[in-house]
Amino acid sequence: MKIVHTLSELIAARAELQGSVGLVPTMGALHNGHLSLLQQSTAQNDHTIVSIFVNPTQFLPGEDLDKYPRKPEADIKICELAGVDVLFMPRPEEMYATIEPTIHAPSSKAYILEGLARPGHFDGVLRVVLKLFNLTKPTRAYFGKKDAQQLYLIQNMITCLFLDITIVPCEIIREDDGLALSSRNAYLNPEERREALKLCESLKCATYLVMKGERDISVIQAAMLQALKPLHVEYAVILNRDFDTIPSLHVGHSIILVCAKVGTTRLIDNLWI
Ligand code: AMP
Repeated sequence: MKIVHTLSELIAARAELQGSVGLVPTMGALHNGHLSLLQQSTAQNDHTIVSIFVNPTQFLPGEDLDKYPRKPEADIKICELAGVDVLFMPRPEEMYATIEPTIHAPSSKAYILEGLARPGHFDGVLRVVLKLFNLTKPTRAYFGKKDAQQLYLIQNMITCLFLDITIVPCEIIREDDGLALSSRNAYLNPEERREALKLCESLKCATYLVMKGERDISVIQAAMLQALKPLHVEYAVILNRDFDTIPSLHVGHSIILVCAKVGTTRLIDNLWI
């Protein structure tokens, strides 16, 4: 595995790769969720490029940019074992110029839910992802359904900017007890870790109601809010898969999204139903 830090090293390493290339963009502190993306990429492509970059433009002032978990040595081992060909670990100065065009993610879809609490977050995400696409020219790029809104916005960018890249959505990987894996779970103390289960429990509770035939969104939402008590809930919503509001849940076309704060840690989870 080649580990590269500069743009010129990355471009040179990419030029040597023949055949299909899978790209897995990450912020590091890799866990089994990331690993499942790496495994899908290595299985489906001749070569895999992984980026590890805690992207400053997607963090708002006061967010956890400085304390975001960083585990470069462990990440390198995981990538090596997974059969990654090129690991790109740039410094921020490498990725951004002082003057450059920016991207404004579509407001109606990028300034709701995650984007309401984190205005401009998705502008930063699309900006860095487009740079990574241009640098690595992947055949396929792998994104987790865990970040469902991000996945939607990236697919939208691919379509609208006519990029010739296939986006592969990857299933959410969970702990045995149901908690969705996230680098930010490292912030939770043991009691918060238990409380955090309420997010996936609220999704299970919604699924149970849907299986019993319930389609009324306000009924399902009320049950979810009950299951999430006493967490500070930012949203518990049911939308269609284009992130539009819908009059009632339509099985096979809906997504249930939840965001709650456990202590000071904001956690998200979702279920495609
Ligand atoms: P991050 O390092 O948090 O930016 O995540 C990098 C990629 O891994 C994103 O596409 C995430 O959606 C994906 N990812 C993070 N957690 C999980 C998970 N538990 N299951 C599947 N994919 C995940």
